[in-house]
Amino acid sequence: MVDYDVIIAGAGSAGCVTAYTLAKRGKSVLLIDRKDHDTIGLKTCGDALGSHHLKTLDELIQLPSVPRDVIEHDVTGIDLIAPDMEHRLRMTGPSTTGYSFNRHKFGQWLLGLAEEAGAEVMASTHVKKLLLTEGKVSGVRVRPSDGDADKDITAYIVVDATGATGMLRRQLPETTPIERVIRKEDQMVAWRDVYETPEYTFETPEILEIYWNQEQTLGGYTWVFPQGHHRVNVGLGYMMLPGHRPPKDVFDSFIRTTWDFMKTKLNVLDSSGGIAPVRRPIDTMVDDNFMLVGDAACQVNPVHGGGIGSSMLGGALAGITASDALEAGDTSINSLWPYNPRYMDAYGIKQASLDIFRWFLLNVTNDDIDFAFKKGIIKGADLLHVSITGKMDIGMGDKFKRLVAGIGRVPLLRRVNKVAHLMEDIKAVYAEYPSSPEGLKDWQKRLVPIYEAAKKA
Ligand SMILES: Cc1cc2nc3c(=O)[nH]c(=O)nc-3n(C[C@H](O)[C@H](O)[C@H](O)COP(=O)(O)OP(=O)(O)OC[C@H]3O[C@@H](n4cnc5c(N)ncnc54)[C@H](O)[C@@H]3O)c2cc1C
Repeated sequence: MVDYDVIIAGAGSAGCVTAYTLAKRGKSVLLIDRKDHDTIGLKTCGDALGSHHLKTLDELIQLPSVPRDVIEHDVTGIDLIAPDMEHRLRMTGPSTTGYSFNRHKFGQWLLGLAEEAGAEVMASTHVKKLLLTEGKVSGVRVRPSDGDADKDITAYIVVDATGATGMLRRQLPETTPIERVIRKEDQMVAWRDVYETPEYTFETPEILEIYWNQEQTLGGYTWVFPQGHHRVNVGLGYMMLPGHRPPKDVFDSFIRTTWDFMKTKLNVLDSSGGIAPVRRPIDTMVDDNFMLVGDAACQVNPVHGGGIGSSMLGGALAGITASDALEAGDTSINSLWPYNPRYMDAYGIKQASLDIFRWFLLNVTNDDIDFAFKKGIIKGADLLHVSITGKMDIGMGDKFKRLVAGIGRVPLLRRVNKVAHLMEDIKAVYAEYPSSPEGLKDWQKRLVPIYEAAKKA
């Protein structure tokens, strides 16, 4: 006899939505978090979410609308600013509308949804160990923070929703087909503060600002996300490449000295660092009796680092698949497998393509970006198109070719073309994601040369 149908370790956005989906389908769910109940939801984040994610979740699992008191400000667009800080592109459209919200209240709202649906929440409890029976996942060992003794809890399925640490994923046996360790080069380090700015007015709080600067934030960016006229979430993130500086140091030396509002009175509401995986999703997010969701499954957009919407999507698709498997009385890897193609089709294919684009961006200089902005070679709509579809048409047009060739940037043009083709190649491989675990190894072999080429592009 097992204790629960499903144990979910981690009550972030991924864990809560997985719990909500399963509990609504009548499954017994234990949702465990090390934070105490009232602090669940507090997270180092830019606190911005596109409303298209919520529309998808409404269609998929009838997730209710976000309550107004969770939202700090509505967002209608994003400005992308060149390193020279003079040129900017405005991106507007259905995919840039969304919210700047209160992250803590958002997390509490999701937790409440899971509880109302019937999930049992065990807060202030550390998940320490993945339990295996005859080599297969069978539960977890937990340590309550009140000093009580460790306790073993069993379930048909254990879901790792512990965020970027993926602490249960890392404890899987060596024989698992799941990658247990995420390489540093596939992670972003970040620092961000949230302030009230009583002396400074953000004139257009409905527009989020993203500043590109390869010398300060290689492969990443600085964000200034107003949460109203007198409140802001400001931070930076960049690739965790060898020799990278601590993000707090860059925050202090670059952000503090560069932005005017930073020189006014600031009431600090929060200040903390974090990491996020920025790569394609983990190739299989299931094993026998085991599933990964959210950051633990690398379900983050590799270019802009947004992962709230996609982690919720992952949670919903994992919950639906786990529910089907429980009803069939089979929680083996074969039975849980459909979660993989469902996620790859819905979002993973785009992540894989943007992962290629990420390597290209790493090798673009401030000078290249300033040039492209100044000459009007790229448009906001082009960049939006890449980030929404994972398809790069930038650089394919005649205008770009003429300009680049005319000014002697032919190597850049060649690289853009090469990357555009690699993005198409990876999408073709993802369109043939294996329908069962047997096909995984051969499929993974097809990824290798494309990513190798992307790193050199
Ligand atoms: C600086 C920064 C800015 C970002 N900005 C944005 C943004 O503006 N928009 C966006 O969409 N995304 C953003 N992201 C990404 C986004 O925050 C994550 O992708 C998303 O929160 C992932 O949700 P999750 O549930 O997988 O993980 P998390 O939200 O990290 O939740 C994991 C949960 O697991 C719990 N936990 C961990 N280990 C244990 C354990 N051993 N035992 C018990 N509980 C445990 C934690 O307490 C936590 O509650 C940002 C990320 C960073 C780092």
